[in-house]
Amino acid sequence: MMHKITLPSDEVPKKWYNINPDLPVPLPAPKNPEEGGNLENLPKLFSKGVLEQEMSQERWIKIPKEVREVYKMIGRPSPLFRAKRLEEILDTPAKIFYKREDYSPTGSHKLNTAIAQAYYAKKDGVERLTTETGAGQWGTALSLACSMMDMDCTVYMVRVSFNQKPFRKTIMQIYDGEVIPSPSNKTEFGRKMLAENPDHPGSLGIAISEAMQDALNDDNVYYTLGSVLNHVLLHQTVIGLETKKQLEIAGETPDVMIGCVGGGSNFGGAIFPFIKDQIDGKIDCKFIAAEPHSCPTLTKGEYCYDFGDTAGMTPLMKMYTLGHDFVPPSVHAGGLRYHGMAPQVALLVHEGLVEGRSVHQKHTFQSGLDFAKAEGVVPAPETTHALKVAMDEARECKKTGEEKTIVVSFSGHGMLDLQGYDDYINGKIV
Ligand SMILES: *Cc1c(COP(=O)(O)O)cnc(C)c1O
Repeated sequence: MMHKITLPSDEVPKKWYNINPDLPVPLPAPKNPEEGGNLENLPKLFSKGVLEQEMSQERWIKIPKEVREVYKMIGRPSPLFRAKRLEEILDTPAKIFYKREDYSPTGSHKLNTAIAQAYYAKKDGVERLTTETGAGQWGTALSLACSMMDMDCTVYMVRVSFNQKPFRKTIMQIYDGEVIPSPSNKTEFGRKMLAENPDHPGSLGIAISEAMQDALNDDNVYYTLGSVLNHVLLHQTVIGLETKKQLEIAGETPDVMIGCVGGGSNFGGAIFPFIKDQIDGKIDCKFIAAEPHSCPTLTKGEYCYDFGDTAGMTPLMKMYTLGHDFVPPSVHAGGLRYHGMAPQVALLVHEGLVEGRSVHQKHTFQSGLDFAKAEGVVPAPETTHALKVAMDEARECKKTGEEKTIVVSFSGHGMLDLQGYDDYINGKIV
């Protein structure tokens, strides 16, 4: 039996998989300005490369040589592990595999797209990238990517996180990222917020608006987003493409695939290459998107057009949404606190190919502890949502006796987010 399935460096995928041409119905287009969207700003905010990918109907998109080289440098392909000890503890006939995005130097899958976005921006001659960060994972990944591409990086970090997570800031600074607590006096929108409340705690929506304004004010600067958009999910398909090869080596086909969803990028990237097989009738797989009970976008949200940010500066996208002014409670899985969902993932849920399932953090942290004790790896609070669902599925197999193959997108490790575990262990999460 194989515990760890690896691929050599030169098997880093040569192309990303674009699901657009294979979606069961066409993806509803983002709305035009006259319909209340903000499409006219896009060329000032994003590189030509990613905007082309955003709309592309090409099934396979070549990964630039330079990007592939950096993928190799950061350790791709990432390994696929079999959670054998967890299976034994659960006493399940199911086989559980997990794809290890925690192997990335920044600890999550986000670097996969950060590198590509920095590369295309650099190609356009841009010198600096801006972005927002809440939990800090995305700001960290973009800081490193910019550092590798010799570009500057400005991260607007939600002020409460800035104060609560000083070491996240330190990591970004190690990679030469400029970290600004938001709201800030650097932008008009930030100044407006501070005038209203000098002690404003900030929010992801405000930080997005600040990062966008910063980029709009300077021709040498682009804005970047770490999830939700088609090009981000496209870049993340390296996860699923590698997993597919690794499962073939293990002689397995997936019966259940699970990932946690914030904006939907690690989950989309992991499952899209398998969705085509599902539609073609080559596999019979259940795809489950795990979301927090406190931010139930897929299970309680509405499928309609909405803005991606709070201030309404983005185009309108058709997705499941809780409303762009929805402020989720501050749960520990900060990366899952988003009101919307990637339009491509939302469409698959709406068409019945993907199931959304919400789980409460009081249960997910227990799954995180069980997993850590069984396998050694401490999962990110976000990742524990996927693990909770995977363990439920495995327990179900124990009842039915089914030997299902369960594959989890293990989006990241939790070594920088131990506060949540500490609170859980001390009975503070109820
Ligand atoms: C950001 C993050 C997520 C959620 O983002 P998606 O866009 O849904 O992938 C999940 N897990 C970890 C570890 C993250 O950092």
